[in-house]
Amino acid sequence: MSDCLFCKIVSGKIPSSKVYEDEDILAFNDINPARPVHVLVIPKKHITSLATATAEDTLVLGKILAKANEIAVAQGSPDGFRVIINTGRVGQQEVPHLHAHIVGGPDPVGPMLKRI
Ligand code: 5GP
Ligand code: ZN
Repeated sequence: MSDCLFCKIVSGKIPSSKVYEDEDILAFNDINPARPVHVLVIPKKHITSLATATAEDTLVLGKILAKANEIAVAQGSPDGFRVIINTGRVGQQEVPHLHAHIVGGPDPVGPMLKRI
């Protein structure tokens, strides 16, 4: 996906502040952090969202979650964190390359959702 922002981050065409990388996933700091720790974890392979992921993506999706605690602790959230995966229009996903937000820091991140 040559015109995808996060694919360009994977290929290095757009710089990022990387915090973890292996053959399948990349983690980097969010450019506009909402909490002291705000890392995005993405599959290196382009997957648009959880709405388009398939059974073939099971391993990489598991890896994103399995690495979350290690990444959170290393970045300064040793006592828990929150994972958010915004999906599609209703989830208000802005970047159409699947990503998990890992948010945390020294203090609790706040209520899960505001009631509407
Ligand atoms: P979404 O709303 O799609 O779940 O979240 C997209 C996230 O990507 C936002 O938190 C936004 O700050 C972040 N973001 C957008 N563009 C860039 C970028 O060029 N670099 C980095 N590191 N983060 C970005
Ligand atoms: Zn992409």
